Amino acid sequence: MGGKSDIRLIDENGIRIDGRRRDEMRPVRIEAGVLKRADGSAYLEWGDNKVIAAVYGPREVHPKHLQETNRAIVQYYYAMAPFSVDDRKRPGPDRRSTEISKISAEALENVIFVEQFPRTTIDVYVTVLQASAGTRCAALTAASVAVADAGIPMRDLVAACAAGKVEDQVVLDLVKEEDNFGQADMPIAIVPKTGEIVLMQMDGHMTLDEIDEAMDMAIKACYDIYEIQKEALWKKYERLAEEEVV
Ligand code: ADP
Repeated sequence: MGGKSDIRLIDENGIRIDGRRRDEMRPVRIEAGVLKRADGSAYLEWGDNKVIAAVYGPREVHPKHLQETNRAIVQYYYAMAPFSVDDRKRPGPDRRSTEISKISAEALENVIFVEQFPRTTIDVYVTVLQASAGTRCAALTAASVAVADAGIPMRDLVAACAAGKVEDQVVLDLVKEEDNFGQADMPIAIVPKTGEIVLMQMDGHMTLDEIDEAMDMAIKACYDIYEIQKEALWKKYERLAEEEVV
């Protein structure tokens, strides 16, 4: 973020480096129920991002001292595969993945009926197979579909998208070059039914007016994401119904 570049990120016609307009999201595709051994799962492609999410639980907590007597805990493990970025990513947790895991777990705790499952854990594993900025939003979007696919009771899904600032213009859903050489990136996640914001971060600088515009753009995009999430879950159940008929 904030690095200087000689490349034009937005041309004179308002077209971005990958051909999108300012308020256009990259194409998103989600498939629910892709892993046999997980209780719930989802695969998501978001532009060049590729993410897989697996959910287990509610199940017993180990080590026991982590358990809560009145609710389930949500443990979220965000990981980037070594081959997901240009320079090989060192495997294993680092500060960034620990931070993303913490805030994403908190976002999901807002929608899961955790009070129904005391002393248990709901474990969410998300692996980024290919990364091009916006992976925390992609991961959380996939994770929320995987939790629903596991049949865990939820108030609603969580949908996420980022907006930011590139060449002094507010743009939706930054790609890697825009994230590297742009001025700001602001990931947001919402509970679509209520409009509550359950995750919001910002890297870089924007004015209050720009933040307002970026929020409007990102929230609108979250509602589009929400439709794609629900569609993925419908498709999974249609598939199951067909299999039962056969
Ligand atoms: P997000 O992926 O949620 O936008 P960041 O802003 O931290 O999170 O990262 C932006 C992008 O930078 C990532 O999507 C990825 O393409 C790249 N990136 C992150 N960590 C690494 C790393 N360790 N090595 C190479 N590229 C990375």
